[in-house]
Amino acid sequence: MSETSDTLFSKIIRREIPADIVYEDNLCLAFRDINPQAPVHVLVIPKQPIAKLSDVESQDHALMGHLLLTVKRVADQLGLANGYRVVINTGPEGGQTVYHLHLHLLGGRQMTWPPG
Ligand code: 5GP
Repeated sequence: MSETSDTLFSKIIRREIPADIVYEDNLCLAFRDINPQAPVHVLVIPKQPIAKLSDVESQDHALMGHLLLTVKRVADQLGLANGYRVVINTGPEGGQTVYHLHLHLLGGRQMTWPPG
């Protein structure tokens, strides 16, 4: 997928395509992944269309902290008391397919290591 400031995640933010939204505030949105890799698989995205983690700048530090705290909040909300995994795929070798920064929250099963 090409790197653009208007991906399908921006369309989800604008409610132009549907998503199962589990949390929203003024800075971010969390919704269930369309192709879940675990019983709980949620994507947490900033409303600001940053393409990827390697594009984040020091001025984004508060937003990045907010995204991580939102992952924790959603994990608590969805009952992941036994743990979970947080993943940020970044760039081609990181396996990123949608170029709008997103944190994967995966839980509800035993995770394994190393990842693929
Ligand atoms: P990436 O591979 O970039 O780290 O993750 C992109 C994720 O977005 C994938 O897990 C994929 O299943 C998910 N995804 C792609 N298109 C859609 C969509 O239209 N709706 C939702 N909810 N998730 C999507």
